[in-house]
Amino acid sequence: MLSCKELVANSSDYLDAQLSLRERIAVRTHLTICWKCRRFIRQMRLTQAVLRKLPDTAIPELEALATRLAEQRKAF
Ligand SMILES: [Zn+2]
Repeated sequence: MLSCKELVANSSDYLDAQLSLRERIAVRTHLTICWKCRRFIRQMRLTQAVLRKLPDTAIPELEALATRLAEQRKAF
């Protein structure tokens, strides 16, 4: 069983569909039982979607969001 820490470590690869089938199943299984990680993945996905629509210039609000997400990662 994947720990929350492992899930967070794999989250970027998961969102970029870079994981092997086995790893993907492990992540999905964890997500079905862990609402914290579900929320985390949802936020990551949202952030990625927003970032993709933006030009390369940095935006203070997003910087703050990224920092907040990074802090949440540490809390795991
Ligand atoms: Zn978890």
